[in-house]
Amino acid sequence: MDARQPQRRSSRQLPRPATPDSVLSGRATGATEQLRSSNDRLRSTAPSPFDTSSLPAESRRKTPGATPARRTASSDVSLSARAKRTARTAKDGLPSSSSGMPSPAHSTGPSQISTIASSSKGIEHGAGKRIRLNDNPTFDMLVIGCGGGPLESNLSAYLVKQRNKAWTEQCLALEAGSGMGAMQNILNDAPEALDDFGLQESTAQAAAGKMLDLIQAFVITHAHLDHISALVLAAGSAPRSKRIWGSPTTLSHMTDIFSGRVWPKLALSESDITPSFPNPPYIYATADVNTSAPFTPVDGIEVCAHAISHGTSLDGTVYDSTAVFVTSLEHDQGFLFFGDVESDAISRSPRNAAVWRKAARKIADEQLATIFLECSYGDDRPMPQLFGHLKPSHLIGELQVLADFLRELDHTEHRTKRRRRRDAHPNSPLSDLPLHGLTVCVIHVKDDIEHGVDLREVIRRELAELDKSAQLGCTFLVLEQGMRLEF
Ligand SMILES: [Zn+2]
Ligand SMILES: [Zn+2]
Repeated sequence: MDARQPQRRSSRQLPRPATPDSVLSGRATGATEQLRSSNDRLRSTAPSPFDTSSLPAESRRKTPGATPARRTASSDVSLSARAKRTARTAKDGLPSSSSGMPSPAHSTGPSQISTIASSSKGIEHGAGKRIRLNDNPTFDMLVIGCGGGPLESNLSAYLVKQRNKAWTEQCLALEAGSGMGAMQNILNDAPEALDDFGLQESTAQAAAGKMLDLIQAFVITHAHLDHISALVLAAGSAPRSKRIWGSPTTLSHMTDIFSGRVWPKLALSESDITPSFPNPPYIYATADVNTSAPFTPVDGIEVCAHAISHGTSLDGTVYDSTAVFVTSLEHDQGFLFFGDVESDAISRSPRNAAVWRKAARKIADEQLATIFLECSYGDDRPMPQLFGHLKPSHLIGELQVLADFLRELDHTEHRTKRRRRRDAHPNSPLSDLPLHGLTVCVIHVKDDIEHGVDLREVIRRELAELDKSAQLGCTFLVLEQGMRLEF
């Protein structure tokens, strides 16, 4: 049971204390101040030729249509209200996508902590915002859920496609913790987040079902329930077969679920398909984490999977999770997405460094500028209670490993794209910041049900503080449910 759910519902029925715009601009002001202090620190050592004023602009983007109807919790709200809002968006000249939006990663200084939203009720504030992370984005992402539990309505689940494709043409799901319920909440609370999905259904529930149908394949990093539960629950309703890609360990754990005991046998390997059950809802597909051989879960998108460590079980066994490099074959651009992971610094089986080495190569070749990395707890979390997750000091420590690999590459290889670009700006202090241009999207923040603390805000603050000495130069963005990212 979720003790906070009734609270959330009642808060959704209350009128907003201020218009969404004023809430957002208030947040933007705070962000500006935080950014200024960060950039002032840099300027005190050397002037920056870069524009350092634009990071919070995305949070100033107006969120049209936040009418009382948007607060309705009913699952049967007619989508005509959504259609009206969409029409109003067009009338007001506010684009449905963020064309012309500034690029926080490329146009701003070091050590930026986006303060786009700061409520534990992610769907109230983060939903519907479109954030462009770089100048020439390749991918679109919908954050169906990005929490680490226990709120079952906001668990890891992301939809991805190339920007030059329609969702009806290409739709890859990374993780499947939350599903139809979360989609329905987003449809009710922030329908503008979904205005390019082509949803014509008359109810949010039917529209969420359509979104589920659009998913062509799943890539799952590990079989913990907060990463697979929506996929399991929807198995009996899936209208057509979809592949579930995962490491052999992940798939073996999913077989335990789809065993006929926990859940019916609704997922099969290709070799187990029989004429009597020719189209199972799910077909297992193995991602080779030993060779990291690429596979294409949907046309045009290639994935390489690497085994990483997610804590140690009571019997001393290290639990396997997965990090995936996702690449658009057409654009030769990609991103790195981590499943749950612990720091190499405390792991019995440290395997992150190999991922960082590969990431550094791609960053140096300017093929990667976005990383999704978990940070489940604040820094006051005692080590024995991390349960295979990261906290801010560990996250910064991991990024320092990546930074070291990049420095090494910059030092030894002078012909990388990144090195040439930096050499073109020899007097820029930003040239010395190892992760400048990179956006780290922080995911899997746990819900604090004991004290009601907004851990996202805590983590933002702690990352900012830690980066004062680390000087990595990347942008941190703590994701919220319902956000739309372009990167
Ligand atoms: Zn998890
Ligand atoms: Zn996990």
